[in-house]
Amino acid sequence: MSNFDFDLFVIGAGSGGVRASRVAASHGARVAVAEEYRVGGTCVIRGCVPKKLLVYGAHFAEDLKDARHFGWDVPDCKFDWDRLRDNVLAEVTRLEGLYGQTLENHKVTLFKTRATLIGPQKVRLADGQEISAERILIATGGWPFVPEFPGSEHAITSNEVFHLDKLPKRVVIAGGGYIANEFAGIFNEFGSKVTIVNRGDTILRGYDEQIRDRLLQISMTKGIEFRFNAPFESIEKKEDGSLTVHLGNCDPIDADIVLVAAGRVPNTKGLGLEDAGVELDKDGAIQVDETNQSSVPSIYAVGDVTNRIQLTPVAIREGQAFADSVFGGKPTVVDYANVPSAVFSHPPIGAVGMTEAEARNKLGTVRVYTSDFRAMKNVLAGRNERALYKMIVNEATDQVVGLHMIGPDAPEILQAAAVAVKAGLTKADFDATVALHPSMAEELVLLK
Ligand code: NDP
Repeated sequence: MSNFDFDLFVIGAGSGGVRASRVAASHGARVAVAEEYRVGGTCVIRGCVPKKLLVYGAHFAEDLKDARHFGWDVPDCKFDWDRLRDNVLAEVTRLEGLYGQTLENHKVTLFKTRATLIGPQKVRLADGQEISAERILIATGGWPFVPEFPGSEHAITSNEVFHLDKLPKRVVIAGGGYIANEFAGIFNEFGSKVTIVNRGDTILRGYDEQIRDRLLQISMTKGIEFRFNAPFESIEKKEDGSLTVHLGNCDPIDADIVLVAAGRVPNTKGLGLEDAGVELDKDGAIQVDETNQSSVPSIYAVGDVTNRIQLTPVAIREGQAFADSVFGGKPTVVDYANVPSAVFSHPPIGAVGMTEAEARNKLGTVRVYTSDFRAMKNVLAGRNERALYKMIVNEATDQVVGLHMIGPDAPEILQAAAVAVKAGLTKADFDATVALHPSMAEELVLLK
């Protein structure tokens, strides 16, 4: 028995922290976790999960219209934001309970309060209680970044967007990344007038150019407006509570809500990290090595707080690897190659591996195969919306090094295809697989 109160103290009960806590406990460690807000973290409480439920809710707008082409007499339907919001929030509360239950089942001690570091092996809780631990894991995630400009306090972020009192008629979204495009799709389907305002001239930097262009074109066709090279100058709040957004290079835009989605920063402020000697980078991210260890040997970090790849499944892998390595006698290093990702826009995007531009830069000669098609369901529905699949192949080895897709269910299809890319399969392997007909996914094995 060590002299410490716990073998492991985890700060933050999000995806990475909960996984690390329960796995470390299952390896026999005495574990405590502190959470100042709600168990589950960003993904469960105010991110992936409630967002995906809103995406499902929004998609009914199209499904109800399309159903008429498939023979259903659908009366004019009204959407009730309050009902969806409350159902989504109730589901979040249910999941929060399950996460808490998981910790309890693994005999992890949960402190529902803020904890800060007061030394390499000591934390202080908000009530002043001091607790020692042989190792401390920081898993405090990220926080929405809001650029400074006059009136920025009138904007909301993804933290607040799930709780709106009513459906806004006019939505202005700052940023052109994941959150901007996902919520643009959601609000647009619900009938709000949506304008995306971006400081640069592209959306979804990092995704393949042709796929981004396709989303832009479809989004515009659906009625979403875009302003590019338009930095936010100020937000003015009027007496009736409505907002006017003043932009550089563009006319002002009136809005009921302004959603800022300009990236997320590591949540490290006020945690006592600098005093404990933990090295941070210029953005405040904890610097860790491949074993998730910081510059202080007893302090580790996983997930968005380290700003490696800001995705839930990556944080979970890091939490698992940390616990297995440190408490399970099974040294594990996370492999960051070919991590698949998705944007749950309307329609959604799925991607794994190199974009065409990256592959040309890195590999020199590549072969690119595309399928630009209208999904069978869209044809009958009279929906003029084309899917685009793109495969990038290394000319020298025939290996598939990138897959990029936009279209119905693209993330679902991509997850399965990512196994093949991760396994290093070749274009010939894809070709050798018989098509499953009729499906959209069959395009992947029919690329010419
Ligand atoms: P993103 O990084 O996706 O996009 C940020 C956007 O904001 C970019 O368009 C960027 O422009 C712009 N921007 C950055 N800094 C400024 C600034 N100072 N002023 C004005 N605009 C700025 O961030 P999000 O907020 O959309 O999402 C945060 C993270 O959460 C994502 O990176 C992702 O890791 C994660 N996430 C993942 C999802 C998923 O997996 N489906 C869904 C939602 C979030 P520019 O391109 O010029 O840099």
